Amino acid sequence: MADDGIWSDYGSVWLAGAGPGDPDLLTRKAERLLQSADVVFHDALVGIGVLDLIPASVERISVGKRSGRHSKDQRSIDQMIVDAALAGKKVVRLKGGDPSIFGRATEELAACRAAGIAVRICPGVTAASAAAADLGVSLTLRGLARRLTFVTAHVVRGAVPDVDWAALADRQATLAVYMGKAAAAHVSAGLIGAGLPPDTPVALVENASLPERLTFLTRLDLLPLAAKSALRDGPAVILIGEALRGACPVDQSPLGEVLHAGN
Ligand code: SAH
Repeated sequence: MADDGIWSDYGSVWLAGAGPGDPDLLTRKAERLLQSADVVFHDALVGIGVLDLIPASVERISVGKRSGRHSKDQRSIDQMIVDAALAGKKVVRLKGGDPSIFGRATEELAACRAAGIAVRICPGVTAASAAAADLGVSLTLRGLARRLTFVTAHVVRGAVPDVDWAALADRQATLAVYMGKAAAAHVSAGLIGAGLPPDTPVALVENASLPERLTFLTRLDLLPLAAKSALRDGPAVILIGEALRGACPVDQSPLGEVLHAGN
């Protein structure tokens, strides 16, 4: 489908955010891009409901990376995008959440620019925002949570994540830890060691925005146990800070408990 308002030219690339999974959280712009592309290169984390919005006539290529299982290295992904654009195609590189947050966007932007290809970004709803929505809570809190930090605690081959805990242990901040499930024990010990109180509220949200989501409220010292016992194997974000004290998960709401107790 032609959509001249959105594609400057043939042979151009959009890095588009797919959001956290729920297709209703995709931007209208991203949907337009999917419908008018020639080819979509997508991550493993892109929700099935979002992929279903790609017309059958649009070529769809999975370049999925899941932790520990890298099906394509970053360079070959960069090359595939560049080759498709140089072949005159309208290319969408569809990434989970927001492309500019832990999305390896820099490499792809640089590869396109080096090849003289027009490349732009369409933002998406990031996992932390979707998790906050599922928890019914604000990530910032006047006077109490003045700072919001996105941090990754990705564990590469079992190594301790290289994170400056002292810089993160701020009682007036909310921390959103991406790729942190395997590092939960390090996150907990690191932050408590750097001075955060052990009873700091923590929320774990797996598969945010999706019907199969899991939300779990705990405290910083119990985080390792919670991460081990409460989660399955979906993507999960860990939110830490006083702002989480007010969490009231949509699927665990007090009303739900009252109704449950009344049955
Ligand atoms: N660009 C993405 C993040 C990619 S890094 C974004 O903006 O959301 C991948 C990590 O994101 C996962 O390990 C997990 O920590 C988080 N994540 C992605 N989708 C998620 C979801 N639906 N629920 C919870 N966490 C999610």
